[in-house]
Amino acid sequence: MSEAEAATEFGCAQCYGEDAREAWDRQGDGFEREARVVDDSHFSVTVRRCRACSQRFVWIFTEFIDWRGGDDPQYDTIMPLTDTEAAELVAGTLSPLDLGALGRNRRHLDHDWPSGGPARLNWKTGTFRVVEGG
Ligand SMILES: [Zn+2]
Repeated sequence: MSEAEAATEFGCAQCYGEDAREAWDRQGDGFEREARVVDDSHFSVTVRRCRACSQRFVWIFTEFIDWRGGDDPQYDTIMPLTDTEAAELVAGTLSPLDLGALGRNRRHLDHDWPSGGPARLNWKTGTFRVVEGG
């Protein structure tokens, strides 16, 4: 399967369209929260569903304490999941720390807000590391 094919097998134009900013701006009211898998102040993992097409996504939020200032770096990764993966994640048989491997052939939205720097927002494809913040 080519990467282009892989990129279109999930979601709809509203939740998985080309425009990263549009997809990000829609996170607030375009999605319904289904399950909270991890709920720490520095690491949270939630499963959300697109209100338009019912595609499930995982939202991984990580914050790292920056002891030099109060401006802590934050990272969000939003990636579509199959229904099976979502069910396993909620049931605990799929570890949140293993989600990064699913990004190998799957486009995910990365919101990267480094300490003191401007936020960056990009669609990326490729595995990523999931670490608990703190
Ligand atoms: Zn959708």
